[in-house]
Amino acid sequence: MVCGKPPTARSERADRSPHTGCLASTLGYDAKENCFFVAVSPDVGAREDLMKRIAVLTSGGDAPGMNAAIRAVVRTGIHHGWEMYGVRQGYEGLINGNMTPMTARDVSGILQQGGTVLGSARCPDFTTEDGRLKALRALNQNDIEGLVVIGGNGSQSGAHALSEMGFPVVGVASTIDNDLYGSEITIGVDTALNIALEAIDRLKVTASSHQRAFLVEVMGRNCGYLALMSGIAGGAEAVSIPEVETNPEALAQELRSSYQRGKSHAIIVVAEGAKYNADELLHYFDKHRDRLGFQLRATTLGHVQRGGAPGAFDRLLATRLGAAATDTLARGEHGVLMGLLRGEISATPLEEVAGKTKELDMGLWELAEILAK
Ligand code: ATP
Repeated sequence: MVCGKPPTARSERADRSPHTGCLASTLGYDAKENCFFVAVSPDVGAREDLMKRIAVLTSGGDAPGMNAAIRAVVRTGIHHGWEMYGVRQGYEGLINGNMTPMTARDVSGILQQGGTVLGSARCPDFTTEDGRLKALRALNQNDIEGLVVIGGNGSQSGAHALSEMGFPVVGVASTIDNDLYGSEITIGVDTALNIALEAIDRLKVTASSHQRAFLVEVMGRNCGYLALMSGIAGGAEAVSIPEVETNPEALAQELRSSYQRGKSHAIIVVAEGAKYNADELLHYFDKHRDRLGFQLRATTLGHVQRGGAPGAFDRLLATRLGAAATDTLARGEHGVLMGLLRGEISATPLEEVAGKTKELDMGLWELAEILAK
């Protein structure tokens, strides 16, 4: 019976490398052992050293544009002659070795889709060394030589921890919160802001028709960026964010004086993480309705804000950051976050990014107050 010789590490890699085109493997016959084998010529073997298998994952909250980043990472990697792998469900998939090859066709038609085709997860296990060791083992078992992590603050802390253990990692700045140090704006922010603005614009129309006060709650557990920016761009009368403690009496006074100044509507934008968020403010206004003299109606945008199709800005930002992350690995560099600084795609060391949050520009808070008059 003719049998196949157990493949050597090199011939195995040749078998699994349909996209690289780097290897010239030949099928041989060993007469002594009476079996076929796969051989790689020595000069081509030297080129194989350049070949890499790179993985990409998305982690933390999904953000519109993550798919555009995945597509850019995969196709740029293929351009470099690499085999590309996608890890499912963020760090959870990394720990469980849940990763599959991704071809250029596997990322077709995802550029314009919100969410992430790879899935995402919050994975407490990865915050432990034991969890990260499991992830390293899975990466080694799959011959992965580099990793691109697309995500926000927590995800980039995880990327730093993995990088500290000696694995080549490059981060891509992606979170709708825009609180990530190392990027002035992150993937998903622009689209999420536009969705909030569409809601505010519509509420303003009905608020004006009925002389009503409306409250819109937008995302932001710890960071008021989305609330503040949609308040400014949506022309809100007041904004409530986690960074500034707001007094509900002062908010009521703000709305009352808006009507007194001749406005036909009053809109408050609140961040979900503000001390007085939608629930708290509604409760307060209901309790004191007779004294305050008006009622507040609330709309909570919640996850509606995340699910939108990415706009042009996010598609382009995600594409540029994803491609830059892969190019960084191609130059043999890692341990950095790719973000946008002063309009340029820039790399910031992950050790500077991990555990930090970008401070909100309080000059914008003052601007919001001035413009609400
Ligand atoms: P977003 O803010 O948009 O939701 P994020 O990346 O900040 O995104 P997190 O839930 O904070 O989302 O973090 C995502 C995952 O990153 C966590 O579930 C965890 O697996 C990992 N992670 C967070 N912090 C650390 C850390 N200090 N060390 C290692 N891994 C971490």
